[in-house]
Amino acid sequence: MKFKCDFTSEHYFETLEHAQKEYQIGPVKNFLQKQKNEKNIFLRHDVDFSLDYALEMAQSEEKHGFSSTFFILLHSDFYNPYSVKGKEVISKIASLGHEIGLHYDTRFLSKDIQKSKEQIKNQILTLEYISSSCVISAAPHIPSETQDIIINLKELDILNTRGEDILKDVFYISDSGRYWRNGCMCSHIGKYNNIQILTHPIWWAENSRSIKKQLDLFIERESTKLISNIGDYKKMVTRLLTELHAPKENFEI
Ligand SMILES: [Zn+2]
Ligand SMILES: [Zn+2]
Repeated sequence: MKFKCDFTSEHYFETLEHAQKEYQIGPVKNFLQKQKNEKNIFLRHDVDFSLDYALEMAQSEEKHGFSSTFFILLHSDFYNPYSVKGKEVISKIASLGHEIGLHYDTRFLSKDIQKSKEQIKNQILTLEYISSSCVISAAPHIPSETQDIIINLKELDILNTRGEDILKDVFYISDSGRYWRNGCMCSHIGKYNNIQILTHPIWWAENSRSIKKQLDLFIERESTKLISNIGDYKKMVTRLLTELHAPKENFEI
């Protein structure tokens, strides 16, 4: 089938709906129950920028009847999974029927393999608490830029998306940097029995936009959020100063 290829949610879902005729489509953890004669698509999102974008993707997938894996960073420069709001959003994604996985950053791990395994295990326990769900899948963050420590997560009963077995059996495509290396996701449907599709929620939108516009919009949304958070903080300080009968000049915040 010939589609108009872009990074709109329309193209994302028309591709999946077309693929659904011959593939089982679901989260990465489904790899563990993969049947021999089945065709599978493992849907995965690396949440590199924004939990809000991830939630929007999760809601729209749920509306279309799909579930996938959202890999969450614990050490992001852009969002905080440990915050009250972060925890709420991640649990909400899990409650929509999606899998939550650990997006580990090797820069945060010890070079000692044994220690790094313990650190991953601890991060998984933390993410299980944050997401109120069972975490059994992990994926490295920008393996091309960070040290690609080969950690055997099988010993921890964790499915690593960089593990030999999944890479051997499953054709892998990614929209990293909003660029499909070997052609759009739709062009691979039907060519392979098993496909792992990695998309980043930041790149997908209702309307077709340039990568620059998409990032500018992200900056705009984050600024609005920051202004609102500072507004909440100011209100809290004003309440406190009122209670303390602080001098008038202290209210000028
Ligand atoms: Zn396409
Ligand atoms: Zn990443």
